[in-house]
Amino acid sequence: MKVVFLDIDGVLNALGASYAGLEHPLDGAAIARLNRIAGATGAAGVLSTSWRLLFPWPGCRDILVEHGVTMPLVGETPDLWTDEEPEEARRREIAQWLAENRVERHVVLDDLPLYPDDHPHFVRTVETVGLTDADVARVLALLR
Ligand SMILES: [Mg+2]
Repeated sequence: MKVVFLDIDGVLNALGASYAGLEHPLDGAAIARLNRIAGATGAAGVLSTSWRLLFPWPGCRDILVEHGVTMPLVGETPDLWTDEEPEEARRREIAQWLAENRVERHVVLDDLPLYPDDHPHFVRTVETVGLTDADVARVLALLR
């Protein structure tokens, strides 16, 4: 299985943008790009976003599906946060999910600096922009 660990804020939306009229702040163009990754690679999504805590499973998944996400969303990372930096907790949560599941290739999509920018499993988005075509190209290269 190929997996994309999926953050939402700063990936499927842009900090500072207006999403008036939508029930949830999600960007249709970014969602279309995510779907393109799924179509090109067959990758599934695993929710690493903090939205998974706000909308417990399958709440966040259902919201994404309602907003047009066609990438299959197969699970979410565990909540291991204690009192550490959020980046540290998210890295541990992703590592635990990887340890418990069979994964052929994976990419972490996040606007937080979870890993160095040249890390072979990481594509960092810009929080005020969200997922771009250039990000998609990097994800596709890493999942191939
Ligand atoms: Mg984020």
